[in-house]
Amino acid sequence: MNISEPSISEPSNPEPSSPEISRPKPSGRVAMQQLLCAIREQLPVGAPEADLCQKICIGCPKKLMSYLEQEVNDWQRALDDGETPKLGDIRQLARAARKIHAVIEKNGLLMPQRSPVSRTLE
Ligand code: SF4
Repeated sequence: MNISEPSISEPSNPEPSSPEISRPKPSGRVAMQQLLCAIREQLPVGAPEADLCQKICIGCPKKLMSYLEQEVNDWQRALDDGETPKLGDIRQLARAARKIHAVIEKNGLLMPQRSPVSRTLE
């Protein structure tokens, strides 16, 4: 999965029935969990400060990753506690992750093994 705005099923807003059989959309909980996994895979979550701080930075990767890690941890805790995120919550986090990914990439801080995966974000 890439860091994209997810398409989730909304129980309160069912889609009209269709004769075509389509793959069911993931629930908000599944979509958020997939997003959290994609963020952990594609961004340097948990990287030490020494790896994020450069002599010349574009933006502040350390602050951005700190913010994103806090969001990931908060949402993981919420999911573990049984909370169901709203579509807006997932979109907001996906948007923030994409913007932060762009800054991290500009700073040359994507790990080599993350680069091929990150191309799916463009
Ligand atoms: S701008 Fe941020 S990431 Fe860059 S050296 Fe300063 S604290 Fe570290």
